[in-house]
Amino acid sequence: MAVTSSSMLLRNFSTVGRVAQSVRVTSKIFFSTGELIRVLPYTRSSRSICSTRAAHNEEAAAKAAASVADTGAPTIFDKIIAKEIPSDIIYEDENVLAFRDINPQAPVHVLVIPKLRDGLTTLGKAEPRHVEVLGQLLHASKIVAEKEGILDGFRVVINNGVEACQSVYHLHLHVLGGRQMKWPPG
Ligand code: 5GP
Repeated sequence: MAVTSSSMLLRNFSTVGRVAQSVRVTSKIFFSTGELIRVLPYTRSSRSICSTRAAHNEEAAAKAAASVADTGAPTIFDKIIAKEIPSDIIYEDENVLAFRDINPQAPVHVLVIPKLRDGLTTLGKAEPRHVEVLGQLLHASKIVAEKEGILDGFRVVINNGVEACQSVYHLHLHVLGGRQMKWPPG
């Protein structure tokens, strides 16, 4: 499904929001163009996704992060937002920052984050007050895809919780593209 306008994105997001509310905290949530929404609830398969990624030390990173997971402690992204450490910024506005992932999993791999975390260590912490910024993050993901020339096929991933291999506790959307994606993801 090609997403062509911010209003459509926001409409879609309200659907996503409703779906997300019913999803366990430890889940992976995927949005891809070419398909409406796919949500993988916590199952054995989400564990195997984690195991596959362990080859890249992400499971280890997630487990290491577990000790501070969801405490609200500052993360590396605060330093990136403050420009205290460098990042390759693709898009920035008042509310959102998008920069290349330091460990890309696809030719295009950009992280889209809210500049103000406001409790959003994970998507599972989303409250009604976050609806606007969540829509802005999705809209920014589309802008990133457009800028990177992957609008015809890209994937947006949110790793939510330790068992989904989340390693940085500041909500972020992974925008991935530039290669053929597989389904189910691995
Ligand atoms: P998560 O595993 O929490 O879903 O994703 C966190 C992402 O942040 C990982 O893909 C990781 O490569 C990326 N990351 C961690 N530290 C840095 C950093 O200092 N700079 C950048 N650009 N990306 C980072």
